[in-house]
Amino acid sequence: MSRAIRTQVAIVGAGPAGLTLSCLLAKAGIESVVLENRSRSYVEARIRAGVLEQGTAEVLESVGVGERMHREGIVHHGIHLQFAGERHRVPLSELADGRSIVVYGQTEVVKDLIKARLDAGLPLRFEVADVSVHDIETDRPSVRFSDDGERFELVCEAIAGCDGFHGICRPAIAANLDTFSREYPFAWLGILADVEPSSDELVYAHHERGFALLSLRSPQRSRLYLQCGADERLENWSDARIWDELQRRVALEGWTLEEGAILERGITGMRSFVTTPMQHGRLFLAGDAAHIVPPTGAKGLNLAVGDVTILADGLIEFLTTKSDVGLADYSARCLRRVWRAEQFSYWMTSTLHRLGDDPFDEQMQLSQLRYLVSSEAAARSLAENYVGLPVDHFAPWAAVGSA
Ligand SMILES: Cc1cc2nc3c(=O)[nH]c(=O)nc-3n(C[C@H](O)[C@H](O)[C@H](O)COP(=O)(O)OP(=O)(O)OC[C@H]3O[C@@H](n4cnc5c(N)ncnc54)[C@H](O)[C@@H]3O)c2cc1C
Repeated sequence: MSRAIRTQVAIVGAGPAGLTLSCLLAKAGIESVVLENRSRSYVEARIRAGVLEQGTAEVLESVGVGERMHREGIVHHGIHLQFAGERHRVPLSELADGRSIVVYGQTEVVKDLIKARLDAGLPLRFEVADVSVHDIETDRPSVRFSDDGERFELVCEAIAGCDGFHGICRPAIAANLDTFSREYPFAWLGILADVEPSSDELVYAHHERGFALLSLRSPQRSRLYLQCGADERLENWSDARIWDELQRRVALEGWTLEEGAILERGITGMRSFVTTPMQHGRLFLAGDAAHIVPPTGAKGLNLAVGDVTILADGLIEFLTTKSDVGLADYSARCLRRVWRAEQFSYWMTSTLHRLGDDPFDEQMQLSQLRYLVSSEAAARSLAENYVGLPVDHFAPWAAVGSA
């Protein structure tokens, strides 16, 4: 026997997508319930992305969680590209109409969103189990789950599947979806180190031994990554080996990479994945539940926030006016942006990583990198993709007609 509860929107998953959606809906007076199968402490400690596009920061600000981000986040106006023993700055803001990025960890974004939700007394249930979606082809879909040993049926008008790549929402409608994917033969070994960042802006380094990235989480914490094998084992990497490999790949005359205690480490696989459409009946997928990018372009979290901004518009319109025009167009609107980010992430990944032993590949990469730092047009293209394109920018500037 299950206890029935009602809401307007059931949100599965309390990651950046689900939590941001819940705040956007609450701001418009729409009720929702967020269901998360992990504990609050687990969700708040999960170290992942750290680069927010300006548009993402603006969305967070608009739902009232911008205050700490403005205080502690670090605004960057450029990135560095390093290859063939040289480091070059790409002035993002100069090239992309003054737009910038904010370095602020996903853990902090998630903490701020959870706090806002709970402070407002709005429903967010952690550690729920046996979550499943039902009746999504009707106008009364539902989500069943257990909480503290009790069974519930959450009856709603729409379900947002924000439960990440390994969630239950996408598999529930898999028969109605097409998927596109690409696996990469390498991964990232990432560390969080207790040391002041040695570079004030991110450094993307192409090297014959493999890619490296110098990033940060705060003025005292560095976040550093190394390309490694797809099946690499963490236990093969001592602290000394990690620092030695980083030192080799980012070495530059007259500059030193400072080392510190390693606080956290992990290996992240690289994958490109898109499901289309991102909706079926009254179930709408958002964020990693619908698509994955390799992290090189820093797009995963930003795409998740972009999706739910579009989804919130459609849901608010539907639940206040009964018009489903916005919801019908949800997937198509998201996918234009998703495919752009997929291409950019794929391109950044294949330009910067060691792809194999073929010296031809390396020469192609070096030529592309040299072009990026010597052609303003090439650098501008990188910059506008990196800082993020506006949600609705995809109108062809050179269209002369259509069939
Ligand atoms: C290890 C790692 C490192 C990453 N590093 C970067 C990076 O450096 N830069 C970058 O841009 N992106 C990075 N990403 C990607 C980025 O973190 C994601 O794109 C982002 O988290 C997507 O947000 P989301 O809300 O869609 O999904 P998620 O953050 O995955 O949130 C989904 C939530 O749903 C919950 N859930 C799952 N199943 C269920 C269920 N059955 N019932 C209820 N809840 C459920 C999960 O516990 C989770 O809290 C990384 C991802 C990973 C895995």
